[in-house]
Amino acid sequence: MTKWVYSFDEVAEAEALAGDWDSVRGLLGGKGANLADMTRLGVPVPPGFTITTVACNAYTDAGGVVPEGMWDQVRIALDGVEEKTGKKFGDPKNPLLLSCRSGAKFSMPGMMDTVLDIGLNHDVAAELAVSSGDPHFAYDSYRRLIQMFGSVVLGNPDEPYEEILEEFRKKTGVATDAELPTDALKEIVERFLEITPRFPDDPNEQLKLAVEAVFKSWSGKRAVDYRNASNIPHDLGTAVNVQTMVFGNLGDDCLTGVAMSRHGATGENHIEGDYLFNAQGEDVVAGIRATLHLEDMANDMPHAYEELLAISDRLEKHYRDMQDMEFTVENGKLWLLQTRDGKRTAQAAVRIAVEMAEEGLISKEEAVMRVTPDQIDFFLHPQFTREDREAATAAGKLLAKGLNVSPGAAVGQVAFDADTAVTWAEAGKKVVLVRPETKPDDVHGMLAAQGIVTSRGGRTSHAALVARQFGKPAVVGIAELEIDLEGRNMAVEDTVVNEGDFISIEGTSGEVFVGELPTVVPDIKDRWLSTLLGWADEFRRLRVMANADYPVDANRAKEYGAQGIGLCRTEHMFFEAERLPTVQKMILADTAEERQKYLDILRPMQREDFRGLFEAMSGMPVIIRMIDPPLHEFLPGHDELEEELHDLEESPSATSGDEIKEVERKLGRVDDLHEENPMLGFRGVRLALLMPEIPRMQARAIIAAACDAKEAGFDPKPEIMIPLSIHVKELERVKAIVVDAAEEIMEQRGVRVDYQVGTMVETPRAAMTAGPLAREAEFFSFGTNDLTQTTFAISRDDAEKSFLIRYVEEGILPVNPFQTLDRLGVGGLIKIAVEGGRKQRPGMEIGICGEHGGDPDSVALCHELGLDYVSCSPFRVPIARLAAAHAAINDAG
Ligand code: PEP
Ligand code: MG
Repeated sequence: MTKWVYSFDEVAEAEALAGDWDSVRGLLGGKGANLADMTRLGVPVPPGFTITTVACNAYTDAGGVVPEGMWDQVRIALDGVEEKTGKKFGDPKNPLLLSCRSGAKFSMPGMMDTVLDIGLNHDVAAELAVSSGDPHFAYDSYRRLIQMFGSVVLGNPDEPYEEILEEFRKKTGVATDAELPTDALKEIVERFLEITPRFPDDPNEQLKLAVEAVFKSWSGKRAVDYRNASNIPHDLGTAVNVQTMVFGNLGDDCLTGVAMSRHGATGENHIEGDYLFNAQGEDVVAGIRATLHLEDMANDMPHAYEELLAISDRLEKHYRDMQDMEFTVENGKLWLLQTRDGKRTAQAAVRIAVEMAEEGLISKEEAVMRVTPDQIDFFLHPQFTREDREAATAAGKLLAKGLNVSPGAAVGQVAFDADTAVTWAEAGKKVVLVRPETKPDDVHGMLAAQGIVTSRGGRTSHAALVARQFGKPAVVGIAELEIDLEGRNMAVEDTVVNEGDFISIEGTSGEVFVGELPTVVPDIKDRWLSTLLGWADEFRRLRVMANADYPVDANRAKEYGAQGIGLCRTEHMFFEAERLPTVQKMILADTAEERQKYLDILRPMQREDFRGLFEAMSGMPVIIRMIDPPLHEFLPGHDELEEELHDLEESPSATSGDEIKEVERKLGRVDDLHEENPMLGFRGVRLALLMPEIPRMQARAIIAAACDAKEAGFDPKPEIMIPLSIHVKELERVKAIVVDAAEEIMEQRGVRVDYQVGTMVETPRAAMTAGPLAREAEFFSFGTNDLTQTTFAISRDDAEKSFLIRYVEEGILPVNPFQTLDRLGVGGLIKIAVEGGRKQRPGMEIGICGEHGGDPDSVALCHELGLDYVSCSPFRVPIARLAAAHAAINDAG
C-alpha cells in the first residue's frame, strides 16, 4: 500500500523510502521535509503531518480523484496529532484547529493555496469562545476561516468579504479588523455565511476540501506562470502540510512574525525580520498592518526572542545556509511554523557565501558554487550616482522613501496594474509597476517591469521576495503614498504622478523620484565579491581575457580581473570622429602611394593606443587583430556622395571643378567596392592581402609601441592576429609582411620584443584545415560570432530580427546560437580545429573572443573543449571568472 501521509515525526521513514535528502524534499516538499527535520532536531514545531507530492500527482493524473487509502491514512495521522496535543478535531469541548498549506519541492512563495483555522463551526466557535476565555479570538478565527475557505476553496471573489469588513469597520469606528468588537465579528460571521452557502459545517469535510484545493492550486495559472519564470518543472506536484494551529492572536502575550537568519538584502550577519502582536501570520506577509522590527522583540518578549536567536543559529548551522523562518508566540510559548533557505539579493548571496566560508560553515568551493554567474551581473547593474540623487532631492524631485528591499536603480513609466505593465513592456516601453501591494497574480507584471513600488508591505512582503529573486529593483511600504487605482494616479501630499509619467526608483536606498534620473554602472569594489572572485580564480583552469580596444577599456578590464587582452579590434580605433575621414581616404585611395600618405597619418595614432594597451597589460598577452572592417561600416554611402555632388553642381565656385572630380572619383570607388553581403565580403585578411600597406603599417605601429613600452620599463607581450582566414597561403603572405616590418622596426630601434603571429578561426574551412593553418599560425582564437554565422549560414546582422528569435520561441533551436555556443555544430568545429591545430603545433595557445566568451554556458563548453582562455567584454569578465570556476568544479566532481 502506498504511503501517502507522513507524520512530522516520521522523517526517518521518509528517508528510508526516498533515499537522500533531496528525494525527501521531492516527496514531502521543502516545507514538509523541513518541518519533519525540525521536529527531529527538537525545535518546537506544532504537531502535524504531510500528504506527499506523489498523492498530489496521483490526484491530478486521475482528473481530480483522491488516491485510494489516502483519507484513511490522514485519519490515522490525525489521531496521532490529537494524541500529541490532547485536543480533538471537531470536538467543541476541546477543539483541535488545523492549518492546511501547500509545500512544493522548490519554494513558490504565495503561489499556491493555504487555509487556516480549519475545524471551526458554530458549535466549536461558541465553545471556544468560552473555553479560551477570549470570544473575540474565537469569532475572529471563525470569520477568517469562512473568508479564506470561500475565496481559496470555493473560488469566491474577495471583494464581497472585504466590503462587509469595511462596512463594520466604519460602523464601529475602528481602523483595523483586529479591533473589531466581538459582537461585530459575530454579525460578520453570519453575513459571511450568507455569501458562502457552500461552507461545510463538518470539520472533516472542511479538511478534505481544503486539501483538494491545495492539490488543485498546483495547476493554477499563477503557479504555472511562476514555474515557467523560475524554470521549475511542472510535474513535481505539491505536498500538503496539515498542522496544528497555534495562535499569535490570543492576546497581548501572543505575536507572529517572520525572520531571516541574515539580512536578505545586504547579507549582513544578523537576524532581521518583522512581527505583529496579536495577529496571524498572514497579517505580517500581507503587510496590511505596519509591522515591528524584530530587534524590538528583544524588549517586548525577551525570553522568546532569545530562544528564537538560538534556534535561528542552530537551524543555520544544520542547513548550512541562511534561513527564512516563520514563528508564532502563543501565550508566551515560541513555535516555529516553517524554515527554508532564504531568498536573497545577489549582493547578499555573495556576502553570505563568503562569510559562511570564512566562518568555516561551508568550504570555499561551496561558496563559489552558491553564487550564480548571473548574480554577479547585479554588481554591474545601473545605479544612480549620489550626486544625481542629492541634486534630484534638492530640486524637490524626491517623491517618497520606502523600504529598500531589492537593490539597483530602475527608471520607467508608471503602470498601475500588471497587465498594463506587460502590454507597455511588450511595446518596448520601460515600466515601473506601482501597486498598493502585490499579489501572486501580479507576477507577470513584475517580471515585465524594470522595477516595483508598493505603498504597503514589509521587507518580507510578496513584492519584496519576488523582486529580490528576480533581481528587480524594488521599494515597498511607502506609507505616505496614496494610490488611486480608479483615477490612475498616485500622490504624496501635493505631488501627483499620473499613469505613464516617468519615475526613478533606487532599490538600495528606498528612494522614489519623479522624472528620469541618469543611471551609471557601479564599480565592483565590493569586498565580498572580490574575495569570492579571488576564490573562483583558485579553482578555474580557463584564463579570462578581455576584448578591449582602448587603454581606458583595458584598465577597466584589468580592474575586473582580466588576464590580458584577447581581442583588440583595431578598426574600432578608426571609428573616432577625427580619424574616420582619414580612414575613408586611405581605403578609397587609387594608388598604393596615396594610401601610404594616409596610413602615415594614422600610424602614430595607432601606436599611441597600442602603447597604452601594453602599459595597462604589462606582462600579459595583448592580442591585436589586424584591421577587419566590413567596408559598409566605414565608407561613405552612395546616396550621400550623390547629394554632395548635386550640391556642388548647384552652387559652382572657383574650386568646385576639382571638388566635383574628386567626389566623382570617390563615388566610382564606392560603387566598385559596393557589396551585397559585406559581412561575407572584402574584409579581414582579404583586405590585408590586396592592400599590404595596411598590415605593414599596423605591424610597424604595434612593434614600435611595444619597443616604446619596453623602453619605458613595461613588459609588452604583443600577439598579432590575422582575421577571417580561409587558407594557409593567406597566412604565409601576411605573416611575411608582419615579420619583415617587425624586424625592420626592432633593428632600427635596437630593441627586441617577443611577439607571435596567429589567426582567428572564423570559418568552417579554417576549422577543418586547422592543421595546415597551424604551420603558420602560432596561436588560434575562435571568432565565434563569425564562426556561428558561417556555420549556420545565417546573417549575424539580420537573422535575429527576421526569424531566429521565432526559431528559439518555437523550440526549433534550443537557444540563440549568437548568445550561447551551439554545442554540436559550432562546438564540433571547434573540437576539430583544436585537435588539428595542436597536432601540428603541440601546446599552441587557443581561446575564443566572440561574444560567447562572457556567456556562462559557453564558458563551460570552452572548458570542456580544452581551450586555454575565453575573452569577453570588460563588463563580463567577472561573470566569466565565476563561470570558469563553476566549470572546473563541476568537472572535478
Ligand atoms: C568574431 O567574429 O567572433 C569576432 C570576435 O570578430 P568580430 O565580431 O569583430 O567579427
Ligand atoms: Mg569576426
